[in-house]
Parts: sequence; C-alpha cells; structure tokens
Amino acid sequence: MILFCCEVKPIKAIVSSSISTSSRSRSTRFLYELEVSLRKGIDEYLKSGNQTEELQNALQLLQIPGIFRKEDRVSPFISIPFCAGCNIVASILLAVPRITVKTLLKRFCIWLGVEPPDVCQGFFDVNAETLIYIADNTPHLSSQRICTIVFQFMGCKEFFKHDWTINIPKEKNIKQLGVTEKKRSNLNPINPIKILHLSDIHYDVDYTIGSDAACDEPMCCRPGSQPDYFQNAAGRWGAYRCDTSWEMFNGALDHITSQHDDITYIYFTGDIVDHKLWGTSMRRNTKVISSVLEKLKNSFEGIPIFPVLGNHDPHPLNAYSPDSVNNKSFSSQWIFKLVAEKWQMWLPTETKETILKGGYYTVLVKPGFRIVALNSAVCFFTNWWLIFDDYDPYGQLNWLVDVLLKAEENGEIVHIISHVPSGDFTCFKNWGKEYAEIIKRFSKTVIAQFNGHTHRQDVSLYYKDTTMKHPINIAFTGGSLTTWYGVNPNYLVHHVDPVFYVRSA
Ligand SMILES: [Zn+2]
Ligand SMILES: [Zn+2]
Repeated sequence: MILFCCEVKPIKAIVSSSISTSSRSRSTRFLYELEVSLRKGIDEYLKSGNQTEELQNALQLLQIPGIFRKEDRVSPFISIPFCAGCNIVASILLAVPRITVKTLLKRFCIWLGVEPPDVCQGFFDVNAETLIYIADNTPHLSSQRICTIVFQFMGCKEFFKHDWTINIPKEKNIKQLGVTEKKRSNLNPINPIKILHLSDIHYDVDYTIGSDAACDEPMCCRPGSQPDYFQNAAGRWGAYRCDTSWEMFNGALDHITSQHDDITYIYFTGDIVDHKLWGTSMRRNTKVISSVLEKLKNSFEGIPIFPVLGNHDPHPLNAYSPDSVNNKSFSSQWIFKLVAEKWQMWLPTETKETILKGGYYTVLVKPGFRIVALNSAVCFFTNWWLIFDDYDPYGQLNWLVDVLLKAEENGEIVHIISHVPSGDFTCFKNWGKEYAEIIKRFSKTVIAQFNGHTHRQDVSLYYKDTTMKHPINIAFTGGSLTTWYGVNPNYLVHHVDPVFYVRSA
C-alpha cells in the first residue's frame, strides 16, 4: 500500500529567494530530509502505533505550543521556517489514506504541543469530517494553499498567487450623494441618542464557582476541576481564564438597565458561545444562543437590538460552510435558520432572506438612516471553508456594494456592524482588503462601523491611501462582556447625533 506521495517541489518553492544559493540548497536539503524523516516515522506509526526516535526528533523541530492562542502565542518553529514546517505537515496529511486523517490530526495536535490531549481529541472529533470533505472536494488542493489560509498571520503565502477583487462602481456626483462636509458641519450634539454596544458575551453554561480557574486548557472554570490554591478558584463574578457565568451576565444587564434608561438602539457585535472549542455541538450552541437572546429581549424590552454572528457561534467552531454544502454534520444552515428565526424579535421579515443565505442583513431603521449587519466571521482564519473557496463567501461583499450604492443614491447614512474587524490579523487579508476598498469608496455614506472579536476596546481608522495622512472612516471595537482572556468585562454607550448618526461623545 502506498501511504505517501513523494512531492518535494512545494518545499523547494517556499524557501526564500533572498538567501544565498549555497545556504538555500542547505536549507532545501534540510527540509527535504525532515520531510522524509516525518513520512517514514508516520508510516511506521500508522503500521505499528510506535513512535520511532527519528519521528520524535523530527517532531521536536516542529513544536508550535499555543499557536492558536492569541493571548500567549510563543514564537513557533524555532528550528525551521514556520511555513516550510506547515507545508510539510499539510502535504503529509493530504497524502495519507483518508481513514487515518482524523487520528493523525489529533496526533499532530498533541505531538506539536498545540493544545492538551483532551482539547486536541475533542476538537478534531468535531472538525476532522469538515477538513476531509474539503480535502476531497477542493480541486488541485495544495499544502501551500492550506498554510496560506490558516497561517496567513504567520506570513505564509501561496506560491501560486491567488487574488480577487470586487467590482466597485466609481463615484458619480459626489456633491449630491451621502453626507457632505456641509451637512457634517451642522451637527447638533446637544441631544444625542444613546446606542449601547455589547460584544462577545461568551456565556458558559457550565461555569462553576470554586472550580479551577488556572487550568491547562484554553478555557477553565469547568465542573469537577479543583484549584491547587484558593487564589486559583473561580470567583462568583468571573475569572480571567474563564467565560461568562449566567449570574455575571444577568448582573451586567441589570447594571446597564439601572444606569441607562434612555437607550435608543443596541448593537450586539457577536460571539455568544463560550471558548470550550473542543466541546461545541449544534445542540449546545443552540441552547446557549437561544437563552442569551431571550434574556436580552427581556432585559431591553421595546429597544431594537441589531445582532450579528461571531466566529464562536457556529458548530463546527469558526466554520461557515458555502450554501452548496448540504451535509448535516457540518453545514452552517442550522445556525442561519436559528438566528433568522430568533432575530425576528427585532428585525423586519424581509431580512430573513439574506440571514438564511449567510447571516447578514440590512434595515432602514428610519428614513435616511440604515444599518448594515455583516457576517464578517467568514473571514476568520480558521474558517476552514476559505480553503475550499475564499472568493467572497455568500456573495456578501458584492451584496454590500449593491446596498451601499442604493443608500448613496437615496442620501442615506449607514452604520455597519460586524464581528471581526476587517484589519484584524485573524481576518483573511483578501477579504479585509476588498472590504476596506468598499469603505473607501463609500466613506461619505458609511458614517461609522462597530466591531467585536478582539475583546479590546479600541478604534480602527481607515485611510484614503497608503500615506496614512487622510483618515476617512472609523470602526469602534466594543471590548467584551467576558473576562476571557485577562480582561475586565465592559460595554460601550455611544452618544450619537440624532440626525447625522455621528458619534458625539
Ligand atoms: Zn470573542
Ligand atoms: Zn470572535
């Protein structure tokens, strides 16, 4: 039985062309030998279940502890270029018989120190099927493409350049369209309206007071765990390595409603489900999402809430499948159906069509003021479906252009809300670049953007050009209600001009 192919070209291709010929050939030879050692070692492991010394030595060179933990990521692959290592591992996984892929994904996750064994097992129990489907159904899939999508933030680039653009019509008569400078100068911040900006709730149904809040897993405070010291016990109102308990969530909403009885709109910028990324299921996520939305409705009776989806809300985690995928184990249709139904508490019926298509919508809140809610979680780097097809998932950016063109023609002011900020390092660059182009083109119509995901309260500026001298747009990132990871829970209240919808305080 042939277990492995012998393709070494990809590895040659990713060795930097800036290094000298002799050191390049040494580097190429080293990588080639590393790949051969790994292939031989994996072959033996699959036959006998034994790890040879050669395999162990090769794995030592590929350690990437905490690579997916943005909070404590260490410099990985100290011995060899990161992308070269990724390319070797991905090419092996593509070449082995499919029946062994799930086992090897788990083994590599453990061997390379990515996460503790229970996390690796649980995560790939859920995700392996999606990855195998993608490997089997993506024409000419290469290891470079996988590394480019998943590890773009580590500088991996596909050797065969792939790029795409969105068709964005040029401006017509700019004096007649959108919000002119003259209109802006008439701002009246005397009686601003209040927009509450909530983000990243990450409700943990299993949060247990007194449990271990300093565990090895990505998220702690699990039932049955015991802290070594009392200082590491999960507190009543939270812990810095844990997500939000129901009690804390309720307390936060009580605080908001007691302090602000004059909120006009609420923007909720996504991520309801907790960080137990190795334990998601459609059933669990549905329960969590439903209870949080119901609680928001009861706490803010009569106030319109405009929600978006986050990368933690689907199951499998982060994965938004194309609408052509019908497999019930990993199609995203279930979450679009769920929120299309639940969000009707606040949204007009006509929003259902695009929510069912890809979790996005637009609402003309009142004449002249429009909200566009995007599912920017599609650009998240471990949305595996970007490997399958990265071109404008769900046609969302093309749709955005159409919406903004109409808004511009009608002289409407637009707020855009979405989860992942387009310039965040976790957002697939092509998607973020085209989104920024759209913002640049419609900067007189889009007055402000509101994001979540980073768990940090900050702002992002969009510039006219690469000189970065002329800011043309702003995005407010809302922080998070969860304390994960190492942050205090927060919410924002934007004081907004009631006519021009520009933030005044
Ligand atoms: Zn989050
Ligand atoms: Zn997120």
